[in-house]
Amino acid sequence: MFEIRLGDVIDDHCIKCRRITNHSVVSIVDGAAAKVRCRTCYHDHDYRHEQAPPTKKELKKQELFREVLATLSPGAGAEEPNPDLIPAEPTPEPTAEQPQDPPAPEPPKRRTRARNS
Ligand SMILES: [Zn+2]
Repeated sequence: MFEIRLGDVIDDHCIKCRRITNHSVVSIVDGAAAKVRCRTCYHDHDYRHEQAPPTKKELKKQELFREVLATLSPGAGAEEPNPDLIPAEPTPEPTAEQPQDPPAPEPPKRRTRARNS
């Protein structure tokens, strides 16, 4: 059986390099890598099993998707006639299970520029 040891070089996703890079194992828990260090930028982080963490864009997409679901389901809340004018609020509630991620419609890239009067 393959046994991992400290200092072993394994592949993992580096959030700084934003890609799969070589990592050195710096911490082991239960025979599995717990912490690794990127060999490219020397950034320490938890071993991610080569999974990229959700980006801010993806989180935003999920947030928008939940808002769309909320508007679709009856009795989900007050109707908003002008959703474009209402700033999106971050929903801090942690969701244990995420819904499947279907291709959500791209949010309109509209920038509101603050005007100094
Ligand atoms: Zn890196």
